[in-house]
Amino acid sequence: MATLFISDIHLGDEYPQICQRFVEFLATEAPGNEALYILGDLFEVWIGDDAVQTEHRTVLEALRRLCDSGLPVYVMHGNRDFLLGKEFEAMTGCQLIDDPVVIDLHGTPTLLMHGDSLCTDDEEYIQFRTQLRSPAWQQQFLAASVEQRIQIARQYRTESMSRNQNKSVEIMDVNAQAVIEAMQKHSVTQLIHGHTHRPAVHVLEIDGKPAQRIVLGDWYSQNSSLRCDEAGCRLSNLKRN
Ligand code: MN
Repeated sequence: MATLFISDIHLGDEYPQICQRFVEFLATEAPGNEALYILGDLFEVWIGDDAVQTEHRTVLEALRRLCDSGLPVYVMHGNRDFLLGKEFEAMTGCQLIDDPVVIDLHGTPTLLMHGDSLCTDDEEYIQFRTQLRSPAWQQQFLAASVEQRIQIARQYRTESMSRNQNKSVEIMDVNAQAVIEAMQKHSVTQLIHGHTHRPAVHVLEIDGKPAQRIVLGDWYSQNSSLRCDEAGCRLSNLKRN
């Protein structure tokens, strides 16, 4: 049995066909595996468990069916859906996991991250991330009305798009040293993350030992998924309809 990893599905009203494909994936490809890990940015935006958008209902129900079938589904916060909370867990049966977290992946200790915290060259973003992840900011945001929250989320999106226009691809990619430090800190030789939408298997060396960093791609252009079993990990594209 294999363990599946996906990330950056970015479900929202912008790409309705992805929602359909994701629901199909949950119903046809995920069952029969050992576990499903969703490593962040499942949703394009999540403004609180008390403000579920209508277009997300189908997905929440599909996750519920999969969890009810006995398959464990683990969800990590991404930079878009970091407000997924206890109510989301109750609605779907998914379990939220920390970023970072180390799991035993068929005998290999493996570090899982969304990936945005590794983009340390983008100092402006790291600062913004710290602000949004602070309990004080989150309390204040969640206390606002749904309409206000939608407006704030839109404003942040516009601001971030205009900021990123002037940044190079390298600045917005992970920092090589940050990767090594994270892997050393957690004593692992395998890291799986998403966020950058640059699917690849990078071979590296940590303290003289061979190591690998597997990057998951997104769903709107890459249909990316990773399947790991005792024989190893295979990064692939999902079938296109
Ligand atoms: Mn992301």
